[in-house]
Amino acid sequence: MSAIAFLNIGMHGHINPTLPVVAELVRRGHTVTYHTSPAFRAEIEDAGATVCLYPGGDQPLPDPPTPITLMEGLARTTVRLLPAVLADLRRVRPDLIVHDSSCLWGAVAARELGVPAASSFTMFAFNRHVPSPTRGSWDLLAAAAARPRTLQGYLRSRWELHRRFDTRGLPLLDLLNIRQPLNLVYTSGAFQPAAEDFDQSYRFVGPSIGARPVDPSFPADRLEDPVLYASLGTVFNADPQVLRSFATALAPLGGTVIVSTGQTDPEALGPLPANVLTRRFVPQPEVLARAALFVTHGGMNSVNEAMYAGVPMLVVPQGADQPMVARRVVELDAGLSIRTQDVTERSVRALARRLLDDPRFRAAGATLKAAQHEAGGYQRAADELERYLQAAGSVGQPAPVDPPQRG
Ligand code: UDP
Repeated sequence: MSAIAFLNIGMHGHINPTLPVVAELVRRGHTVTYHTSPAFRAEIEDAGATVCLYPGGDQPLPDPPTPITLMEGLARTTVRLLPAVLADLRRVRPDLIVHDSSCLWGAVAARELGVPAASSFTMFAFNRHVPSPTRGSWDLLAAAAARPRTLQGYLRSRWELHRRFDTRGLPLLDLLNIRQPLNLVYTSGAFQPAAEDFDQSYRFVGPSIGARPVDPSFPADRLEDPVLYASLGTVFNADPQVLRSFATALAPLGGTVIVSTGQTDPEALGPLPANVLTRRFVPQPEVLARAALFVTHGGMNSVNEAMYAGVPMLVVPQGADQPMVARRVVELDAGLSIRTQDVTERSVRALARRLLDDPRFRAAGATLKAAQHEAGGYQRAADELERYLQAAGSVGQPAPVDPPQRG
């Protein structure tokens, strides 16, 4: 059995898909450690990993979270965390490191220790249709020129990393797209634009959805069909008026309408119709398994989970990669999209009606649901990691990757 070290950044969307993989690897007898910050400790321990905490507590996201500020934050954090992370890993002696595609310190640690590494993509994998936000581009150059201190900070941290650690082969700029000989992508080849463009190092394992801790306070047994669900995710500060519009638009169409308010206080939505249930956080896969419609910000996990459940979506992108995800959803008839500034009770109700009534969305939903399940999910991800470990043989050898078995 092997020792496998996961290293990740502190965001639900990047951590969630890895948890069922961790649980599966532990179930198969491997020892798993997981580097994270305190906010995620409990859920990672629940998955069966031994948690190693980063020094310095929770890591705030850069504000504003633009490509250039993210790059600077990731490079600076890497310099800060690496000594402690390396000390932990020298104790753990992992046979394999699995890091998020934006977790630079995971990739540097793998090089420093000569351990094979796999990268975990919770967004689309990047290609000509899906350009990485941190690739060298005129936009990035202009953003850097507009924030000279951020740019200086980035260059300083990169120089420091280069001076003190082995950074050979790591991207100079494209820090959201750190690749390894094995790259796990948590969507199906059907949803990934131009999946055929990718080489064999990419494995589209589909959504990784496992059992989550049960929330006994959630009234699952009192939901009435059709269940209509709205959420703008866990990261973006949702405008209470927008959430309110979702609630009042959907209330006449639904049995129970569930609104997950995330960072927003449910009280801020004001009085709502009696069939609307508001919560800061709901057991989303469980809700989607019951739902007839999902109004979502288009976070990659949410969209993957919705397709896995075959639920049509109204995507209201809030930022980051969400406009791109929304375009793909519309392109495949998995749903419709609307801009936040166009959200009104009327517009949302009209689009929701179309999604509920037009059979084309049900048909596309059924096809995508099958593709999302066939991709293999967390079990396939664990298979791929085990195969990679076997192929790596002895520690320190870059592992060749076998031809894909599926999708
Ligand atoms: N989530 C959840 N309950 C909620 C809201 C979100 O369980 O009330 C989970 C959801 O299942 C998904 C993740 O949080 O796995 C959100 O990730 P996504 O990439 O969709 O969006 P983000 O929150 O990162 O913007």
